[in-house]
Parts: sequence; C-alpha cells; structure tokens
Amino acid sequence: MARSINNKFYTNNKNALFNNISDANWNDYNWQLKNQITLPEKLAHFFKFDDADFGDFKKTSRIFRFAVTPYFLSLINFENKNDPLLLQIFPDEKELSKEPSLTIDPFSEEKRSPVKNLIKRYPDRAVVLATEKCASYCRYCTRKRNWKNNFTLSDEDLSNIVQYLRNNKNIREIVLSGGDALILLPEKLDRILSALYSVDSIEVVRIGTRTLSFLPQKIDRPLIETLKKYKPLWIITHFNHPNEFTSDTEKAIDLLLEAKVSLANQSVLLKNVNDNSDTMKNLLQTLEYCQIKPYYLFQCDLVEGTKHFRTSIEKGLDIMKDVRGNIGGLCIPTYVVDLPDGGKVPLLPEYLIKATSNNLIFKNYEGKMFNYPNL
Ligand code: SF4
Repeated sequence: MARSINNKFYTNNKNALFNNISDANWNDYNWQLKNQITLPEKLAHFFKFDDADFGDFKKTSRIFRFAVTPYFLSLINFENKNDPLLLQIFPDEKELSKEPSLTIDPFSEEKRSPVKNLIKRYPDRAVVLATEKCASYCRYCTRKRNWKNNFTLSDEDLSNIVQYLRNNKNIREIVLSGGDALILLPEKLDRILSALYSVDSIEVVRIGTRTLSFLPQKIDRPLIETLKKYKPLWIITHFNHPNEFTSDTEKAIDLLLEAKVSLANQSVLLKNVNDNSDTMKNLLQTLEYCQIKPYYLFQCDLVEGTKHFRTSIEKGLDIMKDVRGNIGGLCIPTYVVDLPDGGKVPLLPEYLIKATSNNLIFKNYEGKMFNYPNL
C-alpha cells in the first residue's frame, strides 16, 4: 500500500478555522501571505497557552518576528502544546536567554561578506541573500538577526554581486538563500537567476527554501515556468518532521519534478521535534517516497537563544546509528556539525573498530563484530 503523507490534522483544522474560505483563496499563495497570523496571542488564545508554557512570548515576538501561514497553522495538533510543528514556529521567551557559546551570528557572516548580500565561507561556493522574508519563521533560524532588516535584493546589489563573481572565477556554485528565495515573485527570481547564470564560472545554483513546508501554494505554474529556464538547478527543501507533508506538498513536488529540478532536503535536529529514531525514520522515508534525497541532518547551529532546541551529539549519533541499520542507504542524510570557523564536518558512528596491516575489524549497525581483509 502506498504511504499516506497527508497530515492527519489538516482537513479538520482547515474546516474548523477557515471554513468560509473558498478553495480558490486557500490555494492562492497571495491569500495565504495576506492572512499570515502575526500576533502570537491569537494562537495563544486559540491553543489556550499561558505564560507558563512559552514565557513572555509577546515580548519575544517583538524582538524576533513571528508569522505563520494559515496553511501551516492547520497542520498543528491544537490539543498538544508540545506539537512538533508548533514548537518550530511559536515564540518562546527562552529565545532571549544568553549563553556564552551561542551568538547571534555564529558563522560571522557579516564579516565574511565581501560584497553586500553575498557570504563567502568556502573557496568555490558563495551564498547570495535574496530576501529576509519567509512564509513563516523558524525559531531556531541561523539568520534570525536579519529579520529586522526588511530587504529584497536590489538590482544594484545584484549587479555588484555579478561583478564580484566575474572577478572571482573560483566560485562555481551559488546557494540562493535568505530568508526564502522562492517567496519572491517569479519575475524577480528570474532576474536573479539570469544574472547569476550569466557569469561564466557559475555552473550550479541551489535554492534553499522552506516554502514546501510553509506555503506549498507558492509552487505554482508561473514559478515553474521560470525555474524550467535554468539548468542545472537544485532545490534544497527544509522539512523537519513527517507531519509537514500534505497532498498540497505532493502537488508542489510534482510541479517541481516537472520543471526537471533536482531535489534534496536539509533538516535540523531539534529537541522534542525530531530527536527520536521513529520520527527521523518516518521523515527520511517520506522524503525518499516524495523523490527528495535526504542530504544533510544538521546539528542545530550555535545561534543565540536556541539552547532549548539543542540535542546532544551523542543522541544524534545514536539516532543515526539506529536509522542506518533500519532503512535503505538512499534515505540516509549526512549528519553534520557546521563549525563556526571550520565548515561542515560529518558525524559518523564508529564502525571501524581496529585496523591492522592485514585485517580490519568492523562493528555493524547491530553491534556485531566482523573481520574484513585489509587488501
Ligand atoms: S525558512 Fe529558513 S530562513 Fe526562514 S526562518 Fe526558517 S530557517 Fe530561517
């Protein structure tokens, strides 16, 4: 039997909360964005939260923006104050706490920006920031410092970026990020992609996006016609939990596949959201089922105010070990920690126990030992 990927709360919640909204409006991303819920107290009233649950969430939302689409709101279990989707988007006063090792710009991106809205951490790649906007806002976001700077990449900044890229021919790959680059109007995205691909040394553009989780309605025909013009183009999705999939997600993925883009997913390991083997297995198998290759599972970045989201690396390794033993290799992402000054390093459970000149001893996923010739 085919896997069902439809979030089980979606239909009931949509009917209960947005019963008078026509399907045409619901499926229109403009309607979804115009009707974003931007006051957390509206959710608090609905979910019957109080200060004991999330502390002074109103103050938190004044410092770090809150917004959620009606669509994503409809995926949350209203009976559960610890719903894994709710925890990702609802402001919590713990975000305002300070820890010496957590900073607001853990990768010093501000200092690694040789030209406005471009970040360079690696010799052959660069990140271009298209906008600070997203359809909803993740509380653990690495770039939440940018939420206060309303911006969409201007034509002048884009032209400066292109000039920089022409002068730095070792950069062959661009990660178009933000915020969420797919939130832009297709004409704007078209101008950006066209400018980036006009640089001879740029071979590949990847677009990082969470619209498939927050606003799959944004993946519409005009966007697809724009994406179809560019090759090779990767769309890097961001799903953290199996409940983030619906029939609307499936439609959006089908459209992207029609545009012949390649799809891969990045997830963040988050406490009480996906830090257990069953949830992670379900997420990874759902991604495979949807033809999205699980690419990275990130240890949560060292961002200020994320201590309550952090899961230990030991626990992450245990989850990966369990996952690796129980599902196919195509479903397995690389579990990585992104070192502030050292880039991404993979985290692997220890499988090679001992090596001699003629023999290797491996421990498999069940903990059993095996000899293998060292030829
Ligand atoms: S969608 Fe991405 S950029 Fe936007 S808030 Fe979430 S993690 Fe940050």
